[in-house]
Amino acid sequence: MAEKRDLVRELLDRHCLITPESYEILEDLDADVVDIDKLAEALKDEIVVSPEKLREALASFEELLSEGNLEVEESRELEERKPAPKISSPEPELVTPKEEVKLTPSVKKQKTEFKPIGKQIKTKMKVIHESSGQTTVDGSIGDFKQYFNSRYNQLFAILRGRGDVSGSIGIKDLEKAKLETNEKITITGIVTSKRTLKSGGILLEIEDPTGRLTAAIPAKMQELLVKAGALLEDQIAGFFGRLYEGRFILDDFVFPDIPIVMNKKTIDEPISVCMTSDLHIGSKEFLEDSFNDLLDFLNGRVDDPYQQTLASQVKYLIINGDLVEGIGIYPKQEDDLLITDIYDQYTKADQLLSKVPEWIHIIITSGNHDACRLALPQPAISKEYAPALWKRSNVTFLSNPTTVDLHKKTFLIYHGNSFEDVASLTPGLSMNDPNGPMLHTLRYRHLAPTFGRRTSIVPSIKDELVIEKVPNVYHTGHIHINSHTQYRGVDCINSGTFQAQTEYMSSKNIVPTPGRVPILNLHTNKLHELVFFDDSEIKK
Ligand code: ZN
Ligand code: FE
Repeated sequence: MAEKRDLVRELLDRHCLITPESYEILEDLDADVVDIDKLAEALKDEIVVSPEKLREALASFEELLSEGNLEVEESRELEERKPAPKISSPEPELVTPKEEVKLTPSVKKQKTEFKPIGKQIKTKMKVIHESSGQTTVDGSIGDFKQYFNSRYNQLFAILRGRGDVSGSIGIKDLEKAKLETNEKITITGIVTSKRTLKSGGILLEIEDPTGRLTAAIPAKMQELLVKAGALLEDQIAGFFGRLYEGRFILDDFVFPDIPIVMNKKTIDEPISVCMTSDLHIGSKEFLEDSFNDLLDFLNGRVDDPYQQTLASQVKYLIINGDLVEGIGIYPKQEDDLLITDIYDQYTKADQLLSKVPEWIHIIITSGNHDACRLALPQPAISKEYAPALWKRSNVTFLSNPTTVDLHKKTFLIYHGNSFEDVASLTPGLSMNDPNGPMLHTLRYRHLAPTFGRRTSIVPSIKDELVIEKVPNVYHTGHIHINSHTQYRGVDCINSGTFQAQTEYMSSKNIVPTPGRVPILNLHTNKLHELVFFDDSEIKK
């Protein structure tokens, strides 16, 4: 093992930058067999040693391979890796280089020069959707009507894109349609109420812009009853069924959902995006030491060559809400504050983020602890509260939610304010697993489907919470628990926190996973998770 690491280090010393994939190939090679000088010579004009270039260079070692100096198994593996697949495996690899990242001052000495790839590649960020400029409304009845019409029209357009819903008819037209008894029909509508009958069946009130009707799921339709658990009030869906004695009997329903896109886009540049959220700077529980370890990592101050290659590729850092702890967020919060002034909290945030290398672009979105309107969509944190951070040329403040393209990869960045509602109203979901609410909101194509619960929503002219563009990456926070799943080709990543468990969380039985930072490579679609905090430290 040590020898293989040496092989990588030798190359780094010769100023070759190695991508993690190339690193893996190198790891499978034997340092005794490979002529480092020859390899370095073959790669000397490469700024970045991509797997393709490395394979080319290694082809010159073919004689060695055929002479049988390498283990048979190793050479076969090398063979298998040769075709350089453009589409990466659907399940990204999770690597947790736990021990390596836990830094102590003695190992922070860099043995090799840090050559960040991110420095050589221009920032390519395009904001697709941003809500900070939204005009505020007074919340009159008319505003709500307009808001729900907008929600309906947007989601109806998405539903209509599904072949199975395209032939739906308006509720008002049902009377005129002179339907036969039991004739199958499709309608699209919003669920305005849902109640369970004594028999176990469910009654739904469904509305569309033309009218309303009552739909029933009979008690005997067990499977559909279970499925209807995920059907929440204010949600829009396509309903299939038949009219029977003036009542709409449901056979099935579909959510707008997202199409299945499994062939994932990759980009040419070997860069990656580092995702975090919920730093809660100003809280007594903010893990400043662990966060400083992340800052060290971003600056390449890591001893392990593999981690150094990971660090060298970071081009973006997304901080998905709750940058600071805020003030007056919950009763008696003063007791939990280390910094009691909101301006000072953002000043502290600036001091920390000033240590992020200037070639890394930082995207900061708002969360429920930040100094801005709580109702969704939350505007960007204003200049007034974070003047120093606003001045930084590598910092962009955006609303919650927001959609940005980073080198043509679409990121939906949403703090997750509605996840408590979604988790508590949907059977089978829990606040300890962010994957559930993430997946459901994608299926609903709406970030906060229910209105009037704990999540407050501004009844804007256009419903900004509809997921119009299907992202490549759906990044959330708020729950303070790291998670990753894939849904129909979308990487769903909850980026955890840098706040240790608070009393409030322990009272709710929420066990956070602080100090874990996912890094997604946009070239390979591989996800790594770096561990900057070991919770056994806290239990001691
Ligand atoms: Zn938070
Ligand atoms: Fe939050």
